Order: sequence, then C-alpha cells, then structure tokens
Amino acid sequence: MPELPEVETVARDLRNELVGRRFISAWVSQPGVLRYPDAESFCAALPGRAVLSVERRGKYILCEVGEGDALVFHLGMTGHLRVVDGEVEEVKHTHLRAGLDDGRELRFDDARRFGRVMLGSRAVLEERRVLPALGVEPLSDDFTAERLDGLMRRTTRTVKAALLDQSGIAGLGNIYVDEACHLAGVRPTRRANRLTRRERTALHAAIRSVLTKAITNRGTTIDDYRDLWDARGSHQEKLQVYGRGGEQCLSCGTVLRRAMVAGRGTVYCPRCQR
Ligand SMILES: [Zn+2]
Repeated sequence: MPELPEVETVARDLRNELVGRRFISAWVSQPGVLRYPDAESFCAALPGRAVLSVERRGKYILCEVGEGDALVFHLGMTGHLRVVDGEVEEVKHTHLRAGLDDGRELRFDDARRFGRVMLGSRAVLEERRVLPALGVEPLSDDFTAERLDGLMRRTTRTVKAALLDQSGIAGLGNIYVDEACHLAGVRPTRRANRLTRRERTALHAAIRSVLTKAITNRGTTIDDYRDLWDARGSHQEKLQVYGRGGEQCLSCGTVLRRAMVAGRGTVYCPRCQR
C-alpha cells in the first residue's frame, strides 16, 4: 500500500504535469471510485477547471482546482495515477479519465478498488466524512520531538498502533513504521507511554530519516506501486526489516522476528530493538 514517500513521489510528479493545465473533459467508468460527489455531478463539475496547485496531505493527493475545491485522490492498495497521451489505450481497471487542455489525460486505475477520488471543498469533504481529520505531517516543522512525545505519552497502545494512527501522524503505514522502529532501536510491541525520553527522541529522528530517504529513492515497490510513469521505486532495496522476517538483521545478524501487532504483520530485531 502506498505510504507517504510513494504518495509524495506521485504528488511531486503530478505537480509538474498538472499545474497550469485545465481539465476539458471527464469520464467515469466505475462510479464506485467516487466518494463525492456522484459520477454525473463530478463529470459536470471538473471540465473547465484549471489546476492551481498539487499538495500531499498524509496519504492523500489534493489538486486545488478553483472555487475553493480540491480534486482529491487516495491510492488505496493498488490505485495508480498516470498522465498519458489521450490516444494511448486504457489499461485494465481504468476507472476515471480526465482530459487536459494539452491533449493528454490524467487517468486513475485501481484493480482492488480501495482507492478513492473526490471533488469538493475541504470543509464539505470533511463534513461528509470522506476526507478524515489528519494528524501532523511528519516532515513538517510542526512535527517536533515534543510533538511526538505528547502523542506517545498519552496512549497505552503499542508503539506500532500509535504510529499507524493517521489522526496522530499522517502518512505512516506498515513499511515505514517498522523501518523507523528498527532505526530507532525501539520494539514496536512496546507500550507507547513506556518509552523513555531518549527512545522517543530517537524515534522522532528515525521517522524523518526513513521517510526522507524513501522519497529520495522514489518510494518502495513491493507489489503494485508504480509512479506516474509506471516506473518502480527503488527503496525496497534499502529496507532493513520490512518483509525480511526470518532473515538476518543487517546490523547484528540476529534472525528477525515476525509478530502481529495492531493487526499488522510486524518485523523487528529482538537484539537491536528493545
Ligand atoms: Zn539486529
């Protein structure tokens, strides 16, 4: 599932391609992909709108399209955005196509259909609960060590569960939580409020470090994730623990342990992570 680095990679590329362009048409072949409004209203509302900006918030991509509205994408498990020439044949599971004023199209395909598309103002989308309230951006200046301290100290949940909660920190998922915990030397099964101050500080730095490196590597491709140009990320080659259960820790050689934590498969080193 695409997490912050993958979504950031797509958002940056989209920004280059879409800002200043205008939508001239819209087709929806799978109405279920739209969370708001319905397909008919969506196809009537999008044409004529120019893209003013493209931002990422958590795992969401928000394209500002005027009148206070945003065209919002969530990639779900297998959602994939691409910008292609209008003549290019559709790939399987293309649910939405939006024509641009330069002859190209923005297309959204999603085999497993967990992805979401919406169009409206932030206020309307939040009120309709199609866009959740999201926590702090972990790469922003607002995400200080004190902020993480506050989030961890007031919960008895596991570190893993606390970090996965999008209303606390937005954008982390299974891959980068496991990676950050390993880098910080913190076992993800620990109670969040039992971490020492030093461990919380280490975790704060580790979160920022793993996300920044993964963005530099254009994300992690395990299964389906591809960028706007259908290319794979390369961060999967750098993963220390995620997907490596039963293999040796790259730091100490101990066999990495697998566990279910917060309902998610979790991998950690029993020696490096206390
Ligand atoms: Zn180790």
